[in-house]
Amino acid sequence: MRTGNLVDLQDHNLSRILELLRENGGISRQDLVEMTGLSASGVSKLVGELIDKGLVVEDTIISRNKGRRAISLKLNPNSVHAVGVRLARHSVQCGLFNVYGRALFTTTRDFRTRSLAEAKSTLEELIGETLEESKARSLKVVGIGVSAPGPMFSHEGRIVLTSNYPEWTGFSVKEFLASRFDMPVYVEHDANVSVLAEKWFGKGVGSNNLVYVMVDRGVGAGIFYDGKLYRGNHGIAGEIGHTTICYDGPPCECGNRGCLEMYCSSFAVLTQAREVLAAETAPDGQLTIDVIARMAREGDPRALQLVTEAGRFLGIGIANLINAYNPERIILGGEMSKAGEPWFRAVKESVRQRTLPEVYSGTEIHLSELETDPAFLGTGSLVISAAFENVSELQTHDVTGK
Ligand SMILES: [Zn+2]
Repeated sequence: MRTGNLVDLQDHNLSRILELLRENGGISRQDLVEMTGLSASGVSKLVGELIDKGLVVEDTIISRNKGRRAISLKLNPNSVHAVGVRLARHSVQCGLFNVYGRALFTTTRDFRTRSLAEAKSTLEELIGETLEESKARSLKVVGIGVSAPGPMFSHEGRIVLTSNYPEWTGFSVKEFLASRFDMPVYVEHDANVSVLAEKWFGKGVGSNNLVYVMVDRGVGAGIFYDGKLYRGNHGIAGEIGHTTICYDGPPCECGNRGCLEMYCSSFAVLTQAREVLAAETAPDGQLTIDVIARMAREGDPRALQLVTEAGRFLGIGIANLINAYNPERIILGGEMSKAGEPWFRAVKESVRQRTLPEVYSGTEIHLSELETDPAFLGTGSLVISAAFENVSELQTHDVTGK
């Protein structure tokens, strides 16, 4: 019998091979030997196991440089599938995702109220419909992945605080869904799911140390460290919105004072903008970040001042993040990223002023360019990554479409 450690090591190696095949479709066993440093016989055995489980298929024969021929390998696109759910303040979005994290089917419903009962019934209905769709297509689903607004205790899948949604506070999304659906449920806050989406599809491809900073109504970071999500002890790592940038600043709902997000979230900017700009620019009261960004582009000094100041404050938080985690790449997304070039320049300039020159020049800062909301796009990846990490527990009957 194998010991636990050997199973762990085996799972780790299987997971590495699956990740490499996901990132580079159509590579040979020899390529895997070179990429992993494992022995040829070791790779052959691991690949054999993945083929037996139906996760990997042999593809067309490819010619190798030295004139030899080798069989190429790829993930079986019809193997494992995931249900991914984005629980947002105003809506639920649900999709069926394949092993590459691509959505095959999606559906969305807006909330009419802020009640917990409506959130629960909508989640249950949309996930139920998506599972029906998977049955109709004869696709095996291995789990449900959910992104929810932070802060949350991700181990318990429990929402800690949702501003203005008192009924949601303390709601365990994980417990609720596990009681309704007989499969593993993974719940993460939206920034953690977004960093996975960037890692699989966006500016994070090829990097194992990246941070996604979601600058929205609140500010949170998803940290992908050493090839994995970094969650911390309670699962609230990355809540940079509640780090202090003004030690005697105004009190925040979280109990701290002068929190970063009070100075640079879209909520903070819109609140200030209503005072500074509202009268002449928004007769219908619909002042948005888009509107402010357009005014800044057109040269309105007050709008420009608002977005650059918000950018400078965010830069302070990002400089702190760099000093704490030293990531290779930082990707900015969320509503504030629509504030455009003056905002982005202010963020980078503020980071530059507050970090060591060599550290600044060695850290990439990007704007997210994903077209689909990464907090939804990454929910399938959340489930598929978990399945990859525990391949030995994945039964052959979990896999269809061999
Ligand atoms: Zn706070």
